[in-house]
Amino acid sequence: MTAVPHLQIKNLRAKIEDKEILKGMNLEIKGGEVHAIMGPNGTGKSTLASTLMGHPKYEVTEGEVIINGEDLLEMAVDERARAGLFLAMQYPSEISGVTNSDFLRSAINARRGEEISLMKFIREMDKKMSTLEMDDSFSHRYLNEGFSGGEKKRNEILQMMLLEPTFCILDEIDSGLDIDALKIVANGVNEMRSADRGFLIITHYQRLLNYVKPDFVHVMMQGRIVKSGGPELAERLEAEGYDWIKEELGIEDETVNANV
Ligand code: ADP
Ligand code: MG
Repeated sequence: MTAVPHLQIKNLRAKIEDKEILKGMNLEIKGGEVHAIMGPNGTGKSTLASTLMGHPKYEVTEGEVIINGEDLLEMAVDERARAGLFLAMQYPSEISGVTNSDFLRSAINARRGEEISLMKFIREMDKKMSTLEMDDSFSHRYLNEGFSGGEKKRNEILQMMLLEPTFCILDEIDSGLDIDALKIVANGVNEMRSADRGFLIITHYQRLLNYVKPDFVHVMMQGRIVKSGGPELAERLEAEGYDWIKEELGIEDETVNANV
């Protein structure tokens, strides 16, 4: 029997260009759990995601992150992917000259540490693309080039479904999606839910959480988690915004910090 996947973020502090953004993040995710992080713009949600993935722009100054008993922060970016961490980005990059299928196939090979046969790859990719209602042409097009916002998001989920990560971080995967696309993406996520996989869903709106039911909802403000609860917390935030939490905690308005 393999151990239950376990990701522990302990007192994580990180800065960018000498500006401290993460100010003592604590979060623990186990296999089978879906955690949602909500919070105002500019509060450090994407910074958390990028820091976990090892983006070189962010400098960790304190704290630790343990993935299945190993020190994540010591790992290079590709090692983090091999360890099972995956990020669906808020703003996926376009890469000209690399087709979607070539990119996905090399990503799968890197993740699994062995070559997947072309036949098997095509079979898996076709299956996932039909779940996501993506047109065949997407496999031959250059990575995200000329994709609409919604198509890029679907493509991120396609990557996730093919890579079969242990921990999936979805950063604003719902932004820019109409209701039909949102349901399709949510179906893809729900299909992936299992006891040996954990999710961290970063979202601005409660809407996605109607389709992907979280076990835990956390509110992030000023670089740390300030409140945790169940799905009812997301509903209250949707109805009342963040002011009541700010008042409860005596936090000054931080929208001056926002750049998004
Ligand atoms: P969120 O995802 O919660 O909206 P971000 O993590 O994107 O927030 O940003 C958190 C803070 O970090 C913001 O104040 C933003 O202005 C700042 N920030 C993000 N990227 C950079 C950068 N490249 N240079 C300087 N500051 C940045
Ligand atoms: Mg963000």
